Amino acid sequence: MTEFRRLRVALLGAGAVGSQVADLLRRHGDELADRAGAALDLVGIAVRNPDAPREADLPRELFTTDSEQLIVGADIVIELMGGIEPARRDILLALSSGADVVTANKALLATHGPEIFDAADQVGASVYYEAAAAGAIPIIRPLRDSLAGDRVQRIMGIVNGTTNYILDRMDTEGSEFADVLADAQRLGYAEADPTADVEGYDAAQKAAILASLAFHTAVPLEAVHREGISRIDTQTMDAARHAGYVIKLLAVCERLIDAESDSPTGEAISVRVYPALIPREHPLASVHGANNAVFVQAEAAGNLMFYGAGAGGVQTASAVLGDVVSAARRHIAGGVGVGESTRANLPVVPIGRVTTRYQITLEVSDEPGVLATVAGILSEGRVSIATVEQTLVTDDESRPAVARIVIGTHTAREQDLSDTVDRLAASGVVGRVVSVLRVEGT
Ligand code: NAP
Repeated sequence: MTEFRRLRVALLGAGAVGSQVADLLRRHGDELADRAGAALDLVGIAVRNPDAPREADLPRELFTTDSEQLIVGADIVIELMGGIEPARRDILLALSSGADVVTANKALLATHGPEIFDAADQVGASVYYEAAAAGAIPIIRPLRDSLAGDRVQRIMGIVNGTTNYILDRMDTEGSEFADVLADAQRLGYAEADPTADVEGYDAAQKAAILASLAFHTAVPLEAVHREGISRIDTQTMDAARHAGYVIKLLAVCERLIDAESDSPTGEAISVRVYPALIPREHPLASVHGANNAVFVQAEAAGNLMFYGAGAGGVQTASAVLGDVVSAARRHIAGGVGVGESTRANLPVVPIGRVTTRYQITLEVSDEPGVLATVAGILSEGRVSIATVEQTLVTDDESRPAVARIVIGTHTAREQDLSDTVDRLAASGVVGRVVSVLRVEGT
C-alpha cells in the first residue's frame, strides 16, 4: 500500500455545501489520496453552532467555533461559510499561515478578489474557486488553464438557477412572474428574500469573476451593469415567443473595441447582466429548469458550452473537492501558486457605450402616419430598423383602436437607444412602451 504524505485540511462551514464536502472527504478518503498524492486529513470544522443538526453524519468532536486555532497549522483551508466577514479575515489568515485555500464564496471574490489574490501571490500560495461561478460546472479551470493559449472574445452565461427556473416556467406554461416565484420559494429554488437572485446581484458577482479571469483584468463589481427579471411579464414573454426568441437572464462578458477607451489598442471589455432575448435555436435556449450554462466564444477554439447544475450542496461539493485535490498536489509540489493574471488591465466600458440589437414593443394609436413618425424618431436617434410587425390590440368601436408595434433593430449604441426610447415615449403617438429588450446570441 502506498504511504502517502499527510495533509491537514481545515473546513470552515458545514451548511449545504460544507457538510457534503466533509462527508465525501471522509467517505472517499482513499480514492482522493490516490488522486492527490497525499492523504487528506479533515482535522476540524468551524461553525457557529457545533451542536446544530447536519445534513451528513459527522463526528461531533470535529466541530469547533474557533476557526483561528483550526486554520493555523492547516495545509489546506476550505472556506464554505459564505459572506464577507469572517470569511475574508479567515482566508487571509490561512494564506499568511502558509495554507492553500479553496472557496466557493462568489460574494467575497467579487468584492475582495484582488486583495485575496495579492495576499496569495505574496506568499506563493494558491486560491482555488471552481465552485464560485456556476456550482458544479467546470468553468474556472477551463478559462484559466484549458483556454490559457487562446483569446476569449465573449462569454454568455446562464449563471443563476433561480431566475432560469422562473423564466423557463413563465415561457413554457405562460405563468405570471409572482406565481412562479412563490412556487420556487415553496420548492426551495428561491430564498425567502429573493432579491439577490431575481434582481441579478448573484449573477453580477459571477460575471465579475468570469470576466476577470477571461480578460486578465480585475473587474470590480461596481463596473458590472445589472438588471433583474422582475419586470418581465406574460405579455413580454408572449411577444418573445411569437418572434422566435426565449428570455434568459444572461451574464455577458465581452471584449470590444471602444473609440473612447484610453487603452493603447482601443480594446476594452463590457460586463453586464440583464434579461435578454436569445433565438430559440441558440444552445443557451435549451437550458431548462434551474440548470446553468456558460457559452464561451474564443478566437481559436470557437464556440464552447459548459452545462449542468449551478447549485445544490452535493453538486457544488464536487467542484470544491476537485479544487482540494489540485490544492493538495500543488501543496506537495511547492513552487509558485496558481496566480491570477490581471496583466491586460482593460477598461470596463459603461453600459451606454455598449452596442447590441434590441426589440422594442410599443402600443400606439392605430392611425395613419403613426408608423412613419415612429420610424422617423428611430432614424433621428441613429437606431436602424431591421424588422417591424404591427398587430391590432383593441378593435372596440367605442374606443380609439390601439395597435402594438414590435420593432427589431440592427446593432445600436445603448445610449442612443435609450435616448430614442425616451423620445418615443414623449412623442404623443406612443401610448405605452411595453418593453425594450436586448437581443443576444444572433
Ligand atoms: P450555508 O448552508 O448557509 O452554510 C454556512 C455554514 O457556515 C454553516 O455551517 C454555518 O455554521 C457556517 N458559518 C456561517 N457564518 C459563520 C461564522 N461567522 N463562523 C463560523 N461558521 C460560520 O451555506 P452554503 O449554501 O453551504 O454556501 C457556502 C458557500 O458556498 C457560500 O459562499 C455560497 O455562496 C457558496 N455556494 C453555495 C452553493 C449552494 O448550492 N448552496 C452553490 C455554489 C456556491 P452553522 O451551521 O453553525 O450556522
